[in-house]
Amino acid sequence: MEIAPNVYWLETSSSNVYLIVEPPNIVLVDTGMPKQDKAIFELLGNLGYQPTDLTHILVTHADIDHVGSLAALHKTSDAQIHAGAASAQLIARGKSPKHMPVIMQWVIDTFIKYGAVAQEKIAVFKDGETLPFLGGLQVLATPGHTLDHFSFFSPTAGVLFAGDALNTRDGRINLTPPRITADKTAARHSGIRLLERSPAVIACGHGTPSTNHTADDLMHVFNTLRQE
Ligand SMILES: [Zn+2]
Repeated sequence: MEIAPNVYWLETSSSNVYLIVEPPNIVLVDTGMPKQDKAIFELLGNLGYQPTDLTHILVTHADIDHVGSLAALHKTSDAQIHAGAASAQLIARGKSPKHMPVIMQWVIDTFIKYGAVAQEKIAVFKDGETLPFLGGLQVLATPGHTLDHFSFFSPTAGVLFAGDALNTRDGRINLTPPRITADKTAARHSGIRLLERSPAVIACGHGTPSTNHTADDLMHVFNTLRQE
């Protein structure tokens, strides 16, 4: 589904992925759980493109539901991967960052791995960089939910790829639940940093992308975060 000009949303088994279609650049933001590569390539096919037409994959953070299909997608497309330094290190080991309640974290650390990608295959971005998509896509460090978390914002398109820094799980714009947040203060600051940009579209990792919120709606969330 097109949520902004040239920006497509695909709801995979447990999280959202997005495609920016600006040929010759075709850019995927996050990859869903393992085994979602088929569904993602199917969306690409519906838009008239081959798997090898995928040129870039941006990673918000190294949770398995965001990088699960990264290795498979990369293998088929040879797309350039972009991620933060901490995410790149985790991806190279097929590991997810720590931010879960103790027992759940143990289960994840012990049993759950996703396909790793060698670190030299990943272009590492830094806070404040601009990537050449959607008229200039700002790279914003947004730690909190996980410490390796980044978001991407296009001032030209008004589109924010929030990853898990913001979501609409409960039908409204909010932070990710506290019990799966590594650093609650950082998460609040990151949420404020993103809302300050007044995104017209919030393409979040979980929940329906927010496309029809008002400035008042954003201000309300912003003020709530500032007062907490
Ligand atoms: Zn996450």
